[in-house]
Amino acid sequence: MPAKGATAITTHQPPASEVLVVGGGIIGLAVAWRARQRGHTVTLVERDELAGGASRVAAGMLAPVSEAEFGGEGRELLALGLDSRQRWPQFARELAAAGGLDPGLRCGGTLMVARDGDEAEALERELAFRQRLGFAVRRLRPSQARELEPGLAPHVRLALELPDDLSVDPRRVTAALRAALARAGVTVYEGCPVQRLLVRSGAVAGVALAAGRELRAQRVVVAAGAWSGAIAGLPAEATLPVRPVKGQILRLRDPAGPGLLERVLRFEGGYLVPRGDGRYVLGATMEERGFDATVTAGAVTELLRDASELVPGISELELAEASAGLRPGTPDNLPLIGAGALPGLVWATGHHRNGVLLAPLTADLVAATLSDAPAGRLEASCAPDRFGGASVSAAPAEAVVGATAGVSP
Ligand SMILES: Cc1cc2nc3c(=O)[nH]c(=O)nc-3n(C[C@H](O)[C@H](O)[C@H](O)COP(=O)(O)OP(=O)(O)OC[C@H]3O[C@@H](n4cnc5c(N)ncnc54)[C@H](O)[C@@H]3O)c2cc1C
Repeated sequence: MPAKGATAITTHQPPASEVLVVGGGIIGLAVAWRARQRGHTVTLVERDELAGGASRVAAGMLAPVSEAEFGGEGRELLALGLDSRQRWPQFARELAAAGGLDPGLRCGGTLMVARDGDEAEALERELAFRQRLGFAVRRLRPSQARELEPGLAPHVRLALELPDDLSVDPRRVTAALRAALARAGVTVYEGCPVQRLLVRSGAVAGVALAAGRELRAQRVVVAAGAWSGAIAGLPAEATLPVRPVKGQILRLRDPAGPGLLERVLRFEGGYLVPRGDGRYVLGATMEERGFDATVTAGAVTELLRDASELVPGISELELAEASAGLRPGTPDNLPLIGAGALPGLVWATGHHRNGVLLAPLTADLVAATLSDAPAGRLEASCAPDRFGGASVSAAPAEAVVGATAGVSP
């Protein structure tokens, strides 16, 4: 039985679409919407239910400035993130108008806090780095930080305020995208695993589903998240090294309503994202554990311990949900967006910790690829051919092992 709004696969061979998107996470949905807006006939095929992968658990920080990292690839990711951050307000407005659901973009900024001398030193380096790049950032003494956020514990040593970061609830965004696709006439199949890509005469020509069924298309966009590297049917030299990076995350609820925290709070060991209605998201682990997505008692304990040290009121909240998701990681932590090694093949994957932030930019870049527009500077850093021929088991540049060894969106 197809889900509401989804199309049932029948024995009839449907007509070929111009664009077929594999994967109904935030990336596949955004790509399908933009492609349809550009006038293409679009089909989206999802293995399970729409937005049930990493996009379901994501915290929704749109935070290129607080995410900014030192180093060459960090700079490239920062450029992508800043560009997409600029696109978000317009993307959210258009989406609300197109589907009738408001994706709920929140402004409020981020507070990065340090608890001890070492963390304060690290924060001073972060401050200098962001000031060199000309970002809006304010150094706050503990009393100033507590004036902004009275829920903070007294032992905060130092804080940085980053006023330009935004946030969204990814579940609202994907619901809005789904509504926009339905109104725009995108054909959506749920509960339909793509078993392999069809390659005919050296070009991608559609996908094969269960029971020998096929869906033909002129272009296939692979937006299958952490599973993108495992889609069968491509010759080895056309596959890409995408791997799952597990993240465990908690959802908390304040029965008394909003007010415990207004800004996104980031600290060594985690982050806390307020939704503005008494709900909070507390994340997240970074773990290299293949496709395992179990929630462990150890991770839940560590996340709660770290957060409640900084915001003691956390202990009073209801634990509404504990979940785990698989980020689509790449060896250089940059996404894979653009034309693949075979005609008809397009990639929109590898967004790792930033798929929500990068969704508007990705959708626009893929739309440009589908129109055969010439590649610009941003496209170059995400070009899939930088890994042409790489094996799907290529080693990560920055593997982090252990439940809370690293922490991130
Ligand atoms: C704990 C956690 C917190 C995060 N927080 C943030 C954040 O604050 N900000 C941010 O920007 N990013 C964040 N991220 C990252 C973000 O969630 C991902 O980058 C983003 O969701 C990737 O979207 P996607 O559509 O590529 O993948 P997914 O959402 O995983 O979607 C992929 C879809 O493809 C489908 N699929 C797979 N194989 C097939 C197949 N063979 N046939 C058909 N369908 C298939 C899957 O079922 C799935 O629905 C977070 C991630 C995690 C895990």
